[in-house]
Amino acid sequence: MTDLPPLPASSLRLRLDAEALAANWRTLDAMSGTARAGAAVKADGYGLGAARVAALLAKAGCQDFFVAHWSEVPDVLRHVPSSRIAVLHGPMSAQEAEFAIQAGVRPVLNSLDQVRRWLGSGGGTCHLMVDTGMNRLGLAMADLGDALLDKLDIDICMSHLASADEDVNQNEEQLGRFAQVRAAVRARRYSLANSAGIALGSAYHADLTRPGLALYGGIARPELAGRIVPVAQPEAAVLQIRALEPGEKVGYNALFTADRPMRAGILAIGYADGYLRCWSGKGRFALGGREVPVLGRVSMDLTIVDLTEMPECREGDWLSAIYDLPQASATSGLSQYELLTLLGRRFSRQIGF
Ligand SMILES: *Cc1c(COP(=O)(O)O)cnc(C)c1O
Repeated sequence: MTDLPPLPASSLRLRLDAEALAANWRTLDAMSGTARAGAAVKADGYGLGAARVAALLAKAGCQDFFVAHWSEVPDVLRHVPSSRIAVLHGPMSAQEAEFAIQAGVRPVLNSLDQVRRWLGSGGGTCHLMVDTGMNRLGLAMADLGDALLDKLDIDICMSHLASADEDVNQNEEQLGRFAQVRAAVRARRYSLANSAGIALGSAYHADLTRPGLALYGGIARPELAGRIVPVAQPEAAVLQIRALEPGEKVGYNALFTADRPMRAGILAIGYADGYLRCWSGKGRFALGGREVPVLGRVSMDLTIVDLTEMPECREGDWLSAIYDLPQASATSGLSQYELLTLLGRRFSRQIGF
């Protein structure tokens, strides 16, 4: 390999407010009452960088961390004791069970098959997920009486709420089934609530809550507005500024045509970075407290904005995407979860606002 000079600074950055992240965890931990709040750091810490997010949350006092895939273990393991990392997808093979044992991380067992596999591999302390009505991952309620479960040393016995962000009967139905789970399964700790579940009240808190979205600034339920603060801010540099004459067309398929002399700024962000085409003609960017609209279609690596009313903006300046999660979700049609986890690998992820 040839020796490369150091890489030039990125023209795309995701600023992470470390204080806000810690504050959100403390808020959710306090809202969890006598339960402790853990943290879902799957999907690369909801797109913000799992290693960094885990380090900051551990420093804030968080002890229990949840990932989905085995491949997500190494990033978190740099900052968290292995026994405090739970892998939600569970062991699908003897090799995966062996990985958990060797790495010292705890698998979440989701079926009697996974229970058998874990016990057959020599097992050890594990977690158990029971399905209380979402019909996603988890042991069926009908399997709760199985004698195999008595052989497990279960740290966290958990279930997951399907509709905690809504006021629907399903929440109470799941809470009722979870009471049956608790009566049937011996475990050190019980856990039910995600971010939205925390806001449903103390009946849902058990021993440990598992917030994800709200840690990263998402407003999972109206009760969290005003308490949860934004954490992530995507920013892109202006690569080029060009003058448009009336009648000139802008971007792929000429979705925008200038109707007067205009000034267009070309930003180093596109759908490959998670700034999807749904922002075409709808998105907004800001500089110094003033906002400008996206012109025409978002392309793979570039987005064009109208700088006509921002004559002071120069090539190389940084513009911030307007990315208030609840509002951006309403505008784009993407969920707050998607808005975060879509943010791609070309962002330089840095701490500081
Ligand atoms: C993703 C996930 C969470 C976190 O959910 P949020 O809605 O992001 O708070 C908690 N528990 C399980 C099992 C999950 O898969």
